[in-house]
Amino acid sequence: MLSSLKIIQPTSVQEASQALAEFGDKAKLYAGGAELLLLLRNRLIDTEVLIDVKKIDRLRRLVANNGALRVGACLTHHELANNAAIRARAPSLALAESQVANIRVRNQGTLGGNLAFNDPHSDPGTVLLVHNASVTIGNATGERRLALDEFFVDMYATALQAGELLLEVEIPSLPAGMNSSYLRLHRYQRPTLGVAAAARITEGIIDESRLAVGCIGPKAQRLTDLEGKIKGVSLSDAKRIVTEENKYLRELLQPVDDLLGGAEYKLYMAGVMLGDALEQASQHI
Ligand SMILES: Cc1cc2nc3c(=O)[nH]c(=O)nc-3n(C[C@H](O)[C@H](O)[C@H](O)COP(=O)(O)OP(=O)(O)OC[C@H]3O[C@@H](n4cnc5c(N)ncnc54)[C@H](O)[C@@H]3O)c2cc1C
Repeated sequence: MLSSLKIIQPTSVQEASQALAEFGDKAKLYAGGAELLLLLRNRLIDTEVLIDVKKIDRLRRLVANNGALRVGACLTHHELANNAAIRARAPSLALAESQVANIRVRNQGTLGGNLAFNDPHSDPGTVLLVHNASVTIGNATGERRLALDEFFVDMYATALQAGELLLEVEIPSLPAGMNSSYLRLHRYQRPTLGVAAAARITEGIIDESRLAVGCIGPKAQRLTDLEGKIKGVSLSDAKRIVTEENKYLRELLQPVDDLLGGAEYKLYMAGVMLGDALEQASQHI
């Protein structure tokens, strides 16, 4: 299959973007190929040119600055699950990355490919939302930065415009005293449901929390209204409140029936798992 395709291996963002401009609809960016090669093999997409972005240095870098990690788009799930800085500063992301699919997909698939494809049944995006992560997008003429929740537009749709590449993901550390957790429900390789929580709890009372849910509907989302409702309440009250917010979760997350679970089941389990995730976040020292 690959022998019939032209493969270009640019070494800079500018070259990659120029190739996208030159070949237009005939070209696709290609990182690990975990999704792309399946789509091509099943004739769900058609392309003549693959622009392999893995030779672009900038996309392979991981920089740990004072308050944030900057992760190049071409780092694989396996590399991120095992990276010391990620494990220390974003342990729930390392955990989520370690649970993606199987070792073959984790070795092949990249964080950038995962976010750019925006399959609703993904893990990393949900955790990145509680870190207030942002993405840098670039083309031949410049760069722009977007909050991750603006980047995720809809199922399989992102804010990437023609000619643009996802360059890196910036992951701020959580505020001091805040711990996180990630819980995943799965019967098959892709998750049926993913829930991330981060919380700072003082003497049993929630000072601050961040909650996100993925896989239920078109895209992973932060639950900011719910975060407001559990501020200043005890952990046990917060667990009760999140299970009672069925209407809010339904309106926000737009659950859908799919091959990985029914909408009602996913919605019910989201309430239960949000409470469990909060409890788990509270238990970290
Ligand atoms: C069997 C299987 C099980 C899976 N299970 C899980 C799971 O449990 N959890 C989970 O989260 N994910 C899962 N996935 C999805 C997997 O994580 C993604 O397929 C992978 O991360 C995609 O990365 P890639 O580098 O292979 O992307 P590619 O397949 O190379 O590209 C995917 C898409 O992103 C675009 N793209 C790639 N890089 C860039 C870039 N830098 N800028 C702009 N666009 C870009 C491509 O053009 C393409 O449209 C599974 C996939 C498979 C095949």
